[in-house]
Amino acid sequence: LWSDCLSHLQTKVSATDYSTWLRPLQADLVNGELVLYAQNQFVANWVQDKFITEITGLARFLAKSDELQVSLRVGSKPTEPQATPVVEKVESELVSPNLRTGITETLTFGNFVQGKSNQLAKAVAQQVAANPGENHCNPFSLYGGTGLGKTHLLHAIGNEILSHKPNARVVYIHSERFVQDMVKAIKANTIENFKKFYRSLDVLMIDDIQFFANKEVTQEEFFHTFNSLFERSKQIIVTSDVFPKNIENIEERIRSRLSWGVNAAIEPPELETRVAILMKKAEERGVYLEEDVAFFLAQKLRTNVRELEGALNRAIAWSNFTHRPITVDAVREALKDLIASYDHLITIENIQKIVAEYYNIKMADLKSKSRTRSVARPRQMAMALAKELTNHSLPEIGREFGGRDHTTVMHACKTISEMRDTDSSIQEDYTNLTRKLSS
Ligand code: ADP
Ligand code: MG
Repeated sequence: LWSDCLSHLQTKVSATDYSTWLRPLQADLVNGELVLYAQNQFVANWVQDKFITEITGLARFLAKSDELQVSLRVGSKPTEPQATPVVEKVESELVSPNLRTGITETLTFGNFVQGKSNQLAKAVAQQVAANPGENHCNPFSLYGGTGLGKTHLLHAIGNEILSHKPNARVVYIHSERFVQDMVKAIKANTIENFKKFYRSLDVLMIDDIQFFANKEVTQEEFFHTFNSLFERSKQIIVTSDVFPKNIENIEERIRSRLSWGVNAAIEPPELETRVAILMKKAEERGVYLEEDVAFFLAQKLRTNVRELEGALNRAIAWSNFTHRPITVDAVREALKDLIASYDHLITIENIQKIVAEYYNIKMADLKSKSRTRSVARPRQMAMALAKELTNHSLPEIGREFGGRDHTTVMHACKTISEMRDTDSSIQEDYTNLTRKLSS
């Protein structure tokens, strides 16, 4: 990876810069982190100041991973792979009086884009943040598929609470980390501190609690922590990938407790929201994004905001690297592999097939002139899905539904959109169908 980076860098920086600062660096790739070793602090600072943004963008672009981190160290590359010392520190820091909250300041309600798919979840989260510990909101369970903003909302709650009560003892922890910390505490004989710590909090947020599955000792500990916090009206918030009652291999007594308070689902965002998210993220990055590019990406990447953001990051890295503007054609080319993996199945025909199956009608009915309700509603649903999930224009969609004109399609989209707000069974159908189509 580094030698690829170097050869690109060589074309981008002056020859002197290249041979003075960049070429002498040694590189090591450990656990998805590109560590660069500089011979002294001066070089490290210089590279950090002048080149790190470029290097990071480039490395992410080349590695096709927007999670890749690049860091600089002084010294030379170790011959033996190093054990990461960070982990050892964690637990003692956690029990020290200086509370580490684990909360990321940049994830807030302010930069959480709202849409139909997440507005309930956001509203409940804001309510919890306004009244932590209050009975009707405790515990709060937030659930939904991956990359839809659960973790973002947890941090937003934490930031909101801390902005009003800077001394509140608020902790965010991922469930896997909780398990690891606990195992370590048991080994180190510090489990009493561990317990004391978690039971002393005002707000405990545990992310992706489904990872507690089959971890009996952890579940036992969590159960007692839960009780201790709950009895004293301290707020507990968890997220999971499925409805709390349905998390597999978690004790019933925990599952039932999680359904005591309030819960909210977060759904994949609809097209407009995906566009708005992209525009927002680009703005945060100080990048100007044309709306047609946002639409293009949002139409291609449908089910996961994290991937949407990853695509944007790759487009930005590509643009920085080539000094070319981000256009639809450029994005199509630069993200070819990613887009191909999404382009597969969703065709109008496929939508018609799945909708017909779902409502137990014939595919021909969707194209027929029949206006009976049992056929008309599914037909509108199928048209709305076609608009949402494919790149076809309204007239094209109309044509595939027995030669209807574009105003009929538009009307169908509007009707379904309104009904989703007022009729929960339509909303449920819509969600189930998008899931079926996106999987
Ligand atoms: P989850 O925890 O559900 O897997 P995350 O909270 O990690 O998902 O979200 C993935 C990425 O998408 C994060 O970078 C997050 O900031 C972003 N994201 C998700 N939903 C939204 C939204 N509605 N507005 C802005 N950013 C969002
Ligand atoms: Mg998450």
